[in-house]
Amino acid sequence: MKKNKTYHIITIGCQMNQVDSERLSAFLESSGYKSLPDFKKAGVVIVNTCGIRQMAEDRAYGLVNQVRKFNPAAQVVVTGCLSKRADVKKRLDGRADIFLPISEIMQLPGLLEGFEFEPHFSLDEVRLEQGEKYLGIAPNHESKFTAYVPIGNGCNNFCAYCVVPYARGREVYRRQADILREVRGLVKKGYREIILIAQNVNSYHDEEKRFPGLLQAVVKIPGKFWVRFSSSHPKDMSDDLINALGSSPKLCPHLHLAVQAGDDEILKKMNRGYTSKHYQGLIKKVRDVRPGISITTDVIVGFPGETKAQYENTVKLFKVVKFDLAYIAQYSPRPGTVSAGMKDNVSQDEKKRRAKELNEILKITAAANNQAYLGKTIEVLIEGIDKRGHYYGKAGSYQTVRINTDIKKDKRSGLIGEFALVIIDKALPFGLEGELAPVVKSLKK
Ligand code: SF4
Repeated sequence: MKKNKTYHIITIGCQMNQVDSERLSAFLESSGYKSLPDFKKAGVVIVNTCGIRQMAEDRAYGLVNQVRKFNPAAQVVVTGCLSKRADVKKRLDGRADIFLPISEIMQLPGLLEGFEFEPHFSLDEVRLEQGEKYLGIAPNHESKFTAYVPIGNGCNNFCAYCVVPYARGREVYRRQADILREVRGLVKKGYREIILIAQNVNSYHDEEKRFPGLLQAVVKIPGKFWVRFSSSHPKDMSDDLINALGSSPKLCPHLHLAVQAGDDEILKKMNRGYTSKHYQGLIKKVRDVRPGISITTDVIVGFPGETKAQYENTVKLFKVVKFDLAYIAQYSPRPGTVSAGMKDNVSQDEKKRRAKELNEILKITAAANNQAYLGKTIEVLIEGIDKRGHYYGKAGSYQTVRINTDIKKDKRSGLIGEFALVIIDKALPFGLEGELAPVVKSLKK
């Protein structure tokens, strides 16, 4: 029987997983596989998993079960964060056929043909060698105007709650010249937004070259495009990087800096390597260098042993920093991490209450920050058309912008993937609304 050489990838989790899936897709196509939008008909279904929270893990189990039920003939591949965990393999035994860390995707075509997994080096060497090779694959970008460009992979930080260092291994970084070549190619193709990503961009190095220098080199590439980066770690946030934030209008006025907690004892237990005061000092410096920059963060409530008084320090930090957006997670223990050995003693109800309270504070600070945009004309990268038939997009400062102009009457079409000037007339907690400015400045050059 002829082999069904079609594939479908389901991606769960962070931007790094999306990057991995885009590279995986390009790699499979170079090996003769064709993408299929319907997982029920694909010969190979790959679930790119996330293990950062229990909820994401449960989603992966549900998806694998669904694939098996609706496409019993498919070869089911589990990759991503959960692919190395023995308990996951046991749980999915008989339903998933192949478990493969993303850094080993070079082996996938062979494994799909029934060959054995055969590392040619010791495990550490394979990790490094393959990690670098896989980052070099030319990806199939999902978007035609926003591209994630990985500058590295892995993490050396071992925050007490986090699976990433175990799932992705130690840090590997790409050569600056390769990254610049990739960005130049994307800008030439018309990409408008370049997002440089790694687990900890601040640790980037290529011999003597560091992340601030890489940023400077990227913004010097000619063309009209925005640059964002993610994620930064507060303990490694250098003055050079802070100063770079104010150095070019191509760099979006947005910094994502995960704080995780506002209490020094909890930060220590989390192994984060900074204090609440240090974090607040960084934000002050950043705002001095780039006034009006939006600040977003990640925070965990209910870390093992977090008392009400310690949580109140996070409340205080939220009120002082006045974030524009925060991803608020209720702690859940992740197998194999240091904090999984600590007593998860904050009740679910209390975690929920803390998350809700922080969200209420966030709504107030974000809404107040957004008031500053009222009446201003800002550049928006148009991402699509909503159900009402109106454009929406992203501001450089990362808010979603709804554009109320009736495009049928206005007759301005074809703006998806382009920059447009928008006059802001409404500020919401997590978004802005406005009208297209009378003259759309076409920035296509
Ligand atoms: S810095 Fe900490 S939270 Fe971020 S990926 Fe590394 S271990 Fe995880």
